[in-house]
Amino acid sequence: MHPEAAAERFGRRTRKRGEVRVRRRLSGLSTFAMSAVPLRVLACGDVEGRLEALFGRVRAIQGKSGRFDMLLCVGNFFGSTSETEWAEYRTGAKKAPIPTYVLGANNQETVHYFPDVSGCELAENITYLGRRGLYSGTSGLQIAYLSGTESQDEPAPAYSFSAKDVTELKTSLLSTPNFKGVDILLTSPWPRDVGTFANSAGEIDTKKCGSKLVSDLAASLKPRYHFAALEKAYYERLPYRNHTVLQETPQHVSRFIALADVGNTSKKKYLYAFSIVPMSLMDPAELVKQPQDVTENPYQKLRKEAQKTKAPVCAEEEPACQFFFDLSKHQGKKRPSSGKESGNSQPKQAKKPPQPTGPCWFCLASPEVEKHLVVSIGTHCYLALAKGGLLPDHVLILPIGHYQSVVDLSSEVVEEVTKYKSALKEFFRSKGKRYVLFERNYRSQHLQLQVIPVPLDHCTTEDIKESFISQAQEQQIELLEIPEHSDITQVAQPGTPYFYVELDTGEKLFHRIRGRFPLHFGREVLASEALLALPQRADWRRCEAERAEEAAQARAFRRDFQPFDFALRA
Ligand SMILES: [Zn+2]
Repeated sequence: MHPEAAAERFGRRTRKRGEVRVRRRLSGLSTFAMSAVPLRVLACGDVEGRLEALFGRVRAIQGKSGRFDMLLCVGNFFGSTSETEWAEYRTGAKKAPIPTYVLGANNQETVHYFPDVSGCELAENITYLGRRGLYSGTSGLQIAYLSGTESQDEPAPAYSFSAKDVTELKTSLLSTPNFKGVDILLTSPWPRDVGTFANSAGEIDTKKCGSKLVSDLAASLKPRYHFAALEKAYYERLPYRNHTVLQETPQHVSRFIALADVGNTSKKKYLYAFSIVPMSLMDPAELVKQPQDVTENPYQKLRKEAQKTKAPVCAEEEPACQFFFDLSKHQGKKRPSSGKESGNSQPKQAKKPPQPTGPCWFCLASPEVEKHLVVSIGTHCYLALAKGGLLPDHVLILPIGHYQSVVDLSSEVVEEVTKYKSALKEFFRSKGKRYVLFERNYRSQHLQLQVIPVPLDHCTTEDIKESFISQAQEQQIELLEIPEHSDITQVAQPGTPYFYVELDTGEKLFHRIRGRFPLHFGREVLASEALLALPQRADWRRCEAERAEEAAQARAFRRDFQPFDFALRA
């Protein structure tokens, strides 16, 4: 019987049954879960024309673990010697065992294999996606692609893309309403700097290899999976976030996977199998779940540069805000002498600083303090060389009274901390150095702001920041960048332990300590090979010097610092 006739015959009953079924589905699992059938996808690195090797492998995998929905090829699909193998597919004598999608040429020799720049079928089951664009299958899966290698020339050669191609691809995708990202991005070159904040890419130097335009594209398109090749290397980067923590709502993470060439003799991975539910069909909460090993975005710097060129920096910006936390709400206002504090923070004593309950090494009035290390004394704060310092000019900013952390300071003390910071910044600049400042409010009774100078020609501020973030990651410490002008009291309540870094640019990194924290972390990062390369000085207990030597170092510091010391002029 004809199906339509059957429906006609059973009329109402059929329709009713259908309705019931739909309603039951909707009342059960969420609408998203209902349609979430994962697609099974294979991705492959440079094929270089070795079709037999590739498809042989695909057949073996499908034979063992079932059918896959598609095969995506990045890098060189054709090689210089592919003609004979290819002829059999082109003529239809052989057929690819899976719908295969490939990117275009990366060199002049293979350009002729791709007759139509807008994409076309090259052989049965083998499709050239095109120069650039978005491929969306009936499944709802969205695959953005960019063929070729980066070119500075305009117009770019047939095997290359230019800045204009990237801009046009970005514009067309980002202009779609509620654009959140794409499921998959396919490029042949690696994105430049993809290894930043990440696990090592082995022999590949991600700061030198790859395309900056591809990084820019990936930063904008936020692919859940990004595949690339051309480097004859396999690299699976730890997933990275696409949002700035504490500033933006969570978004899905991105995974970058570089694949080696088909049939390589060193057995590097060239085929990658995964399943994916199109993001358009996913439960939004499920989509933005952050895996344990997620890292900071490697293209952060790029995104920031882009923002800067969009919105010119306001020249009127208050320099005072460059320091510690945003002090604007305290600035210029003297606290009422009654000691009453407006706002919701705990009342602080204005005249008398808190007193320690036991002996303290850092209260200036206490007999335990090592006076010979003191190099400057202000009204509320003082400077002292660090005992067993990482460097001879490793200095501490300390409140004279017994305050536990920066969050607890009263506004006068904060003001003077700021003055000391700017004096030290200038002082170190005059010596060709930039400072790094950090505080560990954990297992510490008396606030110590560690100030460590790093020679300017040694590394950039960005290098210092990267080292802190990546070495934190290695120890499963989540060190987050917090907005430059944000108030730390919004992030850390008085009494909560934290670790905090401030760079000479005013950039800040923050970690809320929950549980254990390595006590020497800040110092270890600075001592590491990437920065000062003084591993033997990472532990201060092994750096203690004779008292006479300490005193001499303090004298030298005092003498050099004199022109910058506002406390002497007061
Ligand atoms: Zn104290």
